[in-house]
Amino acid sequence: MSDDLEAGNQAWPFVNCPYCSTPISIVTVIGPTDGIAAPCGCRVSPAFFEDV
Ligand SMILES: [Zn+2]
Repeated sequence: MSDDLEAGNQAWPFVNCPYCSTPISIVTVIGPTDGIAAPCGCRVSPAFFEDV
């Protein structure tokens, strides 16, 4: 049992986009090495964030 209402949303550390410097709040992973950063929409590697 869990009352984790945020299951499914990944919480990323506050980090700026490597391409446009916009603070990223969410990364939607679309593949093993690809993701879409939000809110800026740049294509970034999820590994970039996991390594922060
Ligand atoms: Zn960006």
